[in-house]
Amino acid sequence: MNAMNRAVRVARVGTAALLLTAAGALSVSSLAAAQAAPAAKKATVTVSPVAPRKGEVQAVIQEAYEKFKGETRGKNADYIPELAKVDSKLFGIAVVSTDNESVVVGDTKTPFSIQSIAKVFSLALAMEELGRDKVFQKIGSEPTGRPFNSPIAVVDMPTHTGNPLVNAGAIATVSLISGKTPQEKWNKILNFYGRVAGDKLTLIDAVYKSEAATNTGNKALSYLLAKYDRIYADPFESVDVYTKECSVGVTALQLARMGATLANNGANPATGEQVIKRENVPEILSAMMMAGLYDGSGGWAWHVGLPAKSGVGGGIVAIVPGKGAIAVFAPPLDEAGNSVKAQEVIEYVANRLDYNLYSPASVGLK
Ligand code: GLN
Repeated sequence: MNAMNRAVRVARVGTAALLLTAAGALSVSSLAAAQAAPAAKKATVTVSPVAPRKGEVQAVIQEAYEKFKGETRGKNADYIPELAKVDSKLFGIAVVSTDNESVVVGDTKTPFSIQSIAKVFSLALAMEELGRDKVFQKIGSEPTGRPFNSPIAVVDMPTHTGNPLVNAGAIATVSLISGKTPQEKWNKILNFYGRVAGDKLTLIDAVYKSEAATNTGNKALSYLLAKYDRIYADPFESVDVYTKECSVGVTALQLARMGATLANNGANPATGEQVIKRENVPEILSAMMMAGLYDGSGGWAWHVGLPAKSGVGGGIVAIVPGKGAIAVFAPPLDEAGNSVKAQEVIEYVANRLDYNLYSPASVGLK
């Protein structure tokens, strides 16, 4: 792309963008309102030299939507009763690039609970406050935490948390975040997520209440952590804040923008605000690559090669460093708790657009 075209694209940022509607028709829609972050600093939006071309992404996203919309495998999470009630046919795909172009198709305006994807951003917040080394030392970043031949998981783990993206590690991470009261801590977390998304986010109260009434397993984990001095605030209060963060509502578009902030060195491409310290981004992405899809992470790295995070609400966000992020929402999950359609779509798009980071084609060597 030449300099002139780039200048035109910069001028368009924050005013209007082409959006693909659910019906597949093109419409021009102002994103300015949606992009207004709570108390966002106005900053100059810089242009990424490696952001993908919008037209190309648009065509591939539409192809993926058509190809996988008939997929019926998987099942909604039902251990949180409220999630079983979500329409399992909902399906939305959103891409946000580091130069703040957005492409959406399908149900990208329906809020769903962020669930475990929240863990990434609480990790980011803990790293903002404590620095990388302290968080690494207290939480760790091991995919399983087991010795190569150990048959036993949790109590065998040398750190007793393992990594920030499994429940125990995520609850411990929440306990590291400062705040005089759990309410203050929660307000800080919600506000931080909003700045990462460049939008105001709110709690889905029905999901929160439903999980809070049934989360005995997470409470047990928090006490097990306490036994090993691996939780840094009151165990049940930490589980409660953790349950709230998992119940934050996001649309696919908002989630893609949260991912694009990571892809863009921690600066939100819509607001220009440096929300996450630049130096923390590679480590956050490495944790996502190791454990973002739980026991599906190895297969995901093998087939897709992108840092990503799933949630039992049916969302997955994958990061293409420097280029942007893709978020897909489709509730039915596989055995490991990862959205079936979301995995299929992201794998397809990553292959078509040479996004796999382990492929030399991702940096232009064809
Ligand atoms: N809130 C859910 C839980 O703690 C999150 C799980 C997930 O999204 N994988 O079980």
